[in-house]
Order: sequence, then structure tokens, then C-alpha cells
Amino acid sequence: MLLVSISQVILISREVRNQQEQLLRHLTATQVPLLQTALWDIETLALERQLQRIVELEDIASLHLQTETGLGIDLGEPPVGSADTTLLIVSPLDERQRLGELQIHFNNQRMARLIRDSIVQRVLEFSLYTLMLFAILFRLLHQDIGKPLRGIADYVATLRPQKNAPRLALVRSQRSWFDEIDLISRGFETLHEGISHYAEQHENAIEQLARERDSLDLRVAERTSELGYLNGYLKLISGTSLKLMHLRQEQYPRAMAQTLQTLAQYLHLDACALLDDGRLRTRWMEYDDEQWLDGLTTAFVRASGWSVTRLDERTLLIGFVSQQRRFVFAARGRASSDVSAEREELLQGAGQWLFSLLQHWDHVIGLEQAQQELLKMSRTDPLTGLANRRHFEQHQVEELHRAQRMGYPVSLLMLDVDFFKGYNDHYGHAEGDACLAAVANLMKDRFKRAGEMVARVGGEEFAVLLPGLDLDAARQCAEALGMAIYDLHLPHAESVWGRVTVSIGCSCWSVEHGGDTDQIIDSLSRLADKALYDAKRAGRNQVVALRREALSGVQ
Ligand code: GH3
Ligand code: MG
Ligand code: MG
Repeated sequence: MLLVSISQVILISREVRNQQEQLLRHLTATQVPLLQTALWDIETLALERQLQRIVELEDIASLHLQTETGLGIDLGEPPVGSADTTLLIVSPLDERQRLGELQIHFNNQRMARLIRDSIVQRVLEFSLYTLMLFAILFRLLHQDIGKPLRGIADYVATLRPQKNAPRLALVRSQRSWFDEIDLISRGFETLHEGISHYAEQHENAIEQLARERDSLDLRVAERTSELGYLNGYLKLISGTSLKLMHLRQEQYPRAMAQTLQTLAQYLHLDACALLDDGRLRTRWMEYDDEQWLDGLTTAFVRASGWSVTRLDERTLLIGFVSQQRRFVFAARGRASSDVSAEREELLQGAGQWLFSLLQHWDHVIGLEQAQQELLKMSRTDPLTGLANRRHFEQHQVEELHRAQRMGYPVSLLMLDVDFFKGYNDHYGHAEGDACLAAVANLMKDRFKRAGEMVARVGGEEFAVLLPGLDLDAARQCAEALGMAIYDLHLPHAESVWGRVTVSIGCSCWSVEHGGDTDQIIDSLSRLADKALYDAKRAGRNQVVALRREALSGVQ
């Protein structure tokens, strides 16, 4: 506006100057000749009239006419400063003769007024334009920016992170371009989607949390019951394992069947069985179902290692297959849900545990068999298969205890093969062994009554314990034995009888003799030894029975 005003001032000034120059030209053309004439004719009145006419012109503020004759006329407002212009007035007859000069003061106030009016007009116009522009701008801004921004502000004020939050709905005029408001609107749409998504997730999470919180008590109860169940299951396993560890093999079948029963109750089974290499080892069933069992023996678990095979809706086969073994734990649930896929792991664990029990059972069987073997070996004479001296002595103690309790007699035979050194020398040691085995076999077959025992107690010496037989009966028994051996007809070239014969010494203990077990055993064997010695001395191939009193002579 300042620039416009300055340019307006310059233009008006220039316009005024033009007007003044025009006026001067006009005055020069119209008034100056009249003034020349009036001055030349010295018509003061006409001169003043002329001057008055000039000064009345709008653009003239004051005049001062100075004649060469010294006349000075001032008209108009009192002059301020020097004249704006001066017109020379020369003689009408001779231009070179100067009559005077007219000093003119233009009406500068008019120019100032013009400038002021113009500036005021411009200011007014400019203000009006500005107002109009402002109004248009305001309308545009209000319509295109203000309203949408207010709409956005209102929307933002109501925007909450909630599911199904309202979308930003701006009502805008149809346009073929995108502006910043559209960009903001799009940005809010993206924000809305993000918020809606977040809110949905958040609300879902809250709902989930609420559902979980509601079901927490239920789940805690379920977990507690599950833990109780598992705890009981673990107790069952550890308790049973511990119990089975110390069982003898003959106790296993019953214990395993009981284990299966307890396990079945825990696992909701109505039948279960253990098969080892197609052979039924043990089973438990709520009610007999041979058809089911038959089906198991023909069922085949193919996969090697551990596997779970579904035989039918209610039966699972938990199998372990290796090159050496084919083990199957068959479990039939009371309902199909009891052997569902979720319970397979539990049932497989049970199968693995049962398999380890079965292995332990087999281990116990093997161990006990080995123990028996060892015991047998430690008690048996390897050549004849008869009891050895140690076993015989143990047996003698047991039998004497029993005889002492029951009050029956016990007899002892001591038997020695006659001329056996000669036999060995003649036939060789191997034949000698065979001869001893033959005599031993005979005796083994003869003494089979309860408590009786035949033992090899030395090289070619044998002992026979005869519980319940008094001395006479023992003597008869010994004589029959000697005869039987004689009747074996085992050739003996070095014997006077040409065959193998034996000498036998008999002794007997009966209740009336009293004494403690050690004393009884000692006296029995010493007496039998003495009787044997007597039989040898008397010529061999005979029986000598000595009563207790005979010992006093020996001692
Ligand atoms: P007697 O009639 O007095 O009993 O005379 P004998 O020759 O039988 O008695 P002796 O004690 O002199 O000899 C016993 C022999 O038995 C000596 C030994 O060679 C033999 N003998 C001992 N143990 C065995 C064995 O395990 N196998 C064999 N083949 N011979 C044995
Ligand atoms: Mg001997
Ligand atoms: Mg002998």
C-alpha cells in the first residue's frame, strides 16, 4: 500500500505539474497578451482585472506583478517562499522591451489535497479490496480448511482406542485434486485402521483374559486333580517297583497280575495283558474275554523300537520290538476316550515301565536259576552227582534236629569200595571213575525217602543217612545195598570175589541216647567209621553194625 501511495503521489505530482504547465501555456497564450496591452497602455484597472481573473483560477494561489516602472501588485493569498514560476511581460511592439514580470504562486494546497484525497481513496479502495479478499479468503479457508480441520479436531477429540471406532467422515466439495486435508484425512484413516486393529486385539485379549480368569478356578481344580492323579500314579509306580524289586521269581506272576489290576484301575482299563515274544506273560481282566486275548497273540507289532498300534476302537498295543525281543503291552479302555490319542503317551509310559518290570522279572528268574545252579554245584560232587561232604553235613544237622524234635532214630552208613587201589591200577583211573559213578547211581536210586541222603565223602567212600531207621533196620538196609552192588557184577580182577564189592559200617542214634547235635553227629560218624574199619579188618565185602557202647572201647 505504501508503494501504491508513493506512486500515486508521484503520478498526481506529475499530473499537477502538467496541469500547471498547461495553465502557464494557456496564460501565456491568453492572459499574457492582455497583460502586455494593459501594461503598455498603462491601464491599471484593466491590469488589475486581468490579474484578478488569473488569481481566481483554481490552480493559482497568489500573484505578484512587478512592472519596470516600479509598480508592484500582489493578489491572492500571502505568498510563501519564492514564486513557483515567473512570466516575462514584454512590449507588444518590441519583444525585447521588458515591461515587467508576473510571479505566480501555484495553489500547492490543492495538490496536497489532491494527493491526500487520492491516498485516502487508495486506502479506502485497498481496504475494501483487502476486506473483500479477506472475506473470500476467509470463506475459502473456512470452507476448505477451517471446517475440515474442525471436523478433524472434533473427530480426534472423540477418537478412542476401541473396537469399531467411528471413521473420520469429512464432507467436502468435489475436487479433482488432493490437498493437505485429504492427506491428513488419509493419515487418519490409516490411524483409524491401526487403532481399530489394536483395539480389536486389545479387546480380544481382554475378553480372552476374562474367559481365562473365569475358567482359572476350574483349571486350577482340574490341574490339582490331574496332579493328584499323576501323584497317585507315580506312587503306584514307585511303590510297586520297590515291592517287585525284592520278590522271588515264584511271587512274580501274582504280583504282576496285581500290578496290572492296580494300573488298570488308574488308567481306566478293563483289560490289559503283557505278551513276550507272542507268549502271554501276565494279564488282568475285569471279566474273562478269551477272544480278546486270542486276538492279541495274533496281533503283530511291526515297527522296531517303541511304537503304539491301535488294534480296535478300545485297544492299544504298546510294543517294543528288537532283534532279540518282541514285547507288547495291550490295554483296553473302558471307553474309547480312555485310549484316545492324548492318553497314548501316558499308556506308552506305562508300557515302558511294565517292560522294565518284565525285564527285572526275567533277571530275577535268571539270577535265581544261577543261584540254584551255583548252590547245586557247591553241594554236589561233580563225578557222581551225589551230595558232597559239606552238603551231607548240613543235611545231617537238619535231619538230626528234626529227629530230636520228633523222637525217631537216625542211622548212618559208611561205605568204602574194596581193593579200589588195585582196581585203579588194573583198569586205569577213568575206569575207576566209571565204577564209582555206577555204585553212586545205584545208591541214588535206592535212597529216595524223605530225609535220606547219599553223599560221596571221600575218594571211594560214601555215606548214607537214614532217618527213622534203627540199627537193625539200617544193618538190613546196608546188607541189601552191599548185595545189590555185588549183584552189579562190575568186574574187578584184583578182588578175591572177581567183582566190585563194598564194606559198610553202620551206626545209629536214638532219642534215649540224648546229647546235643554236634555230639550226636560226632559219635555217629566215629562209630560208623569204626564199624567200617571192623568190616575191612574182618575181610571186606560185609556189613558191621556197632552200637553206641562200642565207642567206649575206641575212646
Ligand atoms: P581197601 O579195600 O582197604 O579199601 O583198599 P583200597 O585199595 O580200596 O583203599 P586205599 O585207601 O588204599 O585206596 C583207595 C584208592 O582209591 C586210592 C585212589 O587211587 C583211589 N581213588 C580215590 N579217589 C579216586 C577217584 O576219584 N577216582 C579214582 N579212579 N580213584 C580214586
Ligand atoms: Mg578208602
Ligand atoms: Mg577202599
